[in-house]
Parts: sequence; C-alpha cells; structure tokens
Amino acid sequence: MLTSRFSGPSRLIRYFDWSAQGAVVTALMSALLMGASGGWTAEGAESASDVGAANKGEAGRISVYSARHYDTDEALFAAFEKATGIGVDIVEAGGDALLERLKSEGDNSPCDVLLTVDAGRLRAAEDAGLFQPVDSDVLNERIPQHLRHPDGLWFGFSTRARCIYVNREAVGSDRPQTYEDLADPKWKDRVLIRSSSNVYNQSLLASLVINLGAESAEAWAKGVVENMARKPQGGDTDQLRALAAGEGDVAVGNSYYFARLKASDKQEDQEVVSKIDIVFPNQDGRGAHVNVSGAGVVRGSDNVEAAVRFLEFLASREGQTRFAQQNYEFPVVEGVATDPIIEPWAGKRFDSTTPVAEFGRLGREAVEIMDRVGWR
Ligand code: FE
Repeated sequence: MLTSRFSGPSRLIRYFDWSAQGAVVTALMSALLMGASGGWTAEGAESASDVGAANKGEAGRISVYSARHYDTDEALFAAFEKATGIGVDIVEAGGDALLERLKSEGDNSPCDVLLTVDAGRLRAAEDAGLFQPVDSDVLNERIPQHLRHPDGLWFGFSTRARCIYVNREAVGSDRPQTYEDLADPKWKDRVLIRSSSNVYNQSLLASLVINLGAESAEAWAKGVVENMARKPQGGDTDQLRALAAGEGDVAVGNSYYFARLKASDKQEDQEVVSKIDIVFPNQDGRGAHVNVSGAGVVRGSDNVEAAVRFLEFLASREGQTRFAQQNYEFPVVEGVATDPIIEPWAGKRFDSTTPVAEFGRLGREAVEIMDRVGWR
C-alpha cells in the first residue's frame, strides 16, 4: 500500500493492453481520483501500481513509466510488440511525479524502463539509484556518445534545441545570434524566459558553465535577469504567446513548442507563428544547446533483456522515426527522417561537443547561480 501523495500535474495514467482485446486503452485514473490539490491520492497511486504488479516479471511484457504522452504512443508500442512480441504496459505522468513514484515503490516497482525528458531529470533518477547500467553494442554504436550516460545508465533517443525567438516587427534584422547575446544591455527589459525552477533553463545554464566557465556564466545569468521583460512565469509556449503579443521582443523556448504551434490548425496559434522568427543560436560556434528525451533500465527490473530490447527498438530506424516525430524532435541516429514541420531545421548546427550528462551534474550549481542573481 502506497501512502505517499504524488504532487505531479493532474494527468491520466493509461494502461495499454495489447494482448487481451487488441488495442484497449483503459483510463485507470480519472479526475475523480485526483486530490483537491490536483495531486494524486494514495488510492489512485495504488490502483496504478496494481496494474504493473499484475505483470511484474511476466515474460514477454514490460512496464514503461513515461513522462512523454502523445496520442501516437500507442502506435509506437504496437510497433515494438509487432517487432519483438513483447507487450508494453505504460504508466504516464509528469517527470517529477514519476521519479517520486519510483522512489516510493522501491524494489517492488513493476517498472522496467523509465522514459523522461531532460538530462537534468535523468540525473535526478540516477542520483536516486533508479537505473542499472546497460552495455548494448546496438545502443553504443547508434547513439552518439555525447547523448548518453557514460556508464549506460540512460540513453538519449531524441534531441530538442533550446532556441531564441524574436518578434519580427520589433526586432528587425539585428537579432541576438547567441545565448551570450541575451545578456547584452541592448535587450534590457525585452527578454521573455521562464523561471529558474525549470529544468530546461538549469540545463542551458549548466552548458554555459561548461563552455564559458562559472564566472562568465554567472555574469550571463545576471545580464539575462536585468534584461527580463517581466517576472518569469508560464511555460515555453507562454513565452512565445507573450512574444507575439508584444510583451517582450525576444524569447527563449525549446524548438518543439514552436513546431507544435506551426503544426496547429488553430488560427490563434497561426497568428503567433506569423509574428515570430526562430533563431538557432551559436551557429558560428559550438551550435545550439540541445537536450534529450531519454530512457534507462530500472534497477529492480525483472525483465532486463526485454527492457534492453525496448531501448534498442527506440534506436532502430522505425523506433527513431516514430519517437522523434511524436514531439517534433530530432532523431539521434543519422539518416532518420524528421517530421516535415522541422525539416528546414535539420541542417542547423547543434552542440555536439558538450556531453548532455554534464548538465545534470552541474544542475545544482546552475540553481545556485540563478538564486544569487535573482532569477526567480
Ligand atoms: Fe517540454
């Protein structure tokens, strides 16, 4: 019996059962099970655990805890089952909530694979001792070294760039071209960026610590704070909407958020897109900062072989295509097609020298820097 409360965002936990009646998707938790705070009740968590527990150690099935949730997940897992005969039970929730859940479940967890976003969160899972090392020739060969953990605790399966956006009319052609430019006093009161509690900004700052040194990175963070158009608030998409609305002239956000707006058939989204240009930073230098969606095999897995096959499937041509296209991200295996929406960006220069595993290592230092310079 789990007694802890989970404080992640209110989301459904879904259970895909491909073996029973075909593609039956059962919503295990509904809004009824959500606590008043929007967190999960112990009752709800127990229900979700029962699902995986029923399949714990069952040959030919694995449980995946995923912080990614897309309508196309079903197709991805169905393709895996078709290729391998291994069924997948999936529990979906926010990245931080899944970590808490895995920690609570300990060795009783039914989870075989944890799939989450950002090297900072992968590091948090690593620090909690949740992963076991995997030594797979397939993974080591197909996934570039800078996008995986040095000991095989996790592997990046798609990348996203943290980009700069400009309000075309307000900024004209004299645009910030590098992350470093965002601290230039000429952008005073013009920069839109989310809070320091967000792991994406922590990882970006960590990459600056690595590339510029701690002192310069802190000076940069201070400059960005001085240039903020408003107190940090909202998610990446909110920065883009505020940018289009003229609340600032320059914004920072992950590439797939802009791609989602581009792909949207809502008129309000198309209006946002029509006012904004995306800038891939540092094209004349180390390239745009990238982070990963990644996964590793959980320490207590009863089905390591099947779990590794799942990771290897994600690195296959079919797995890569599906996985990256789900969220308008870039595949990590060369020669795999990107979604047509982001095709024009595929030729950009991406930072391939800074190991993403380092972002997590420097996450705490990044937070301390942000605290010192008043980045709320
Ligand atoms: Fe995101």
